[in-house]
Amino acid sequence: VSYQLVLKAATFAADGHRRQRRKDEDASPYINHPLTVAFLVADVGGISDPEVLAAALLHDVIEDVPKNEDERKALVEEVRSAFGETILRYVLEVTDDKSLEKMERKQHQVAHASELSTGAVAIKLGDKIANVTDVTTNPPADWNLEQRKEYLDWAEAVVDNCPKTNAALESRFREVLAKGRRVLLG
Ligand code: ZN
Repeated sequence: VSYQLVLKAATFAADGHRRQRRKDEDASPYINHPLTVAFLVADVGGISDPEVLAAALLHDVIEDVPKNEDERKALVEEVRSAFGETILRYVLEVTDDKSLEKMERKQHQVAHASELSTGAVAIKLGDKIANVTDVTTNPPADWNLEQRKEYLDWAEAVVDNCPKTNAALESRFREVLAKGRRVLLG
């Protein structure tokens, strides 16, 4: 049943990210981030589709856990067999291609945002709301003010190019972005 699928995804993500930490001063457990994203998708986005919620929990697993291409391929197969094709597709839609340089990856995300499915848009918006909030109030320990401002501008460019399919998540994003700018620009 649906809640089992969502809890299975939470467990899978917790296990996958178990050795990872966020970049904030406290080095928070990585799993806090996908949990926040999934909650925003459900609570703000009003989404109850268990496949979208499971994908929200899994959204950074394929991007951030594998250390090389073989591990990546194996993990894709693992997600496919544990969660099925639909969830895998959502996760891959919001997974950056790590073979690209960082700048290229960021441009790629802006350029391809318009192609996202409705489920993937909700996950992308939840991710950007969570990250902009973190960059505003609990930023990566080694980021300067300029990097934080640039992150807000880039996140806005990505969201601007997403299909307009979830007004509630989009307006929450605009709120946290405006607050971020007020805080960072003083
Ligand atoms: Zn994320």
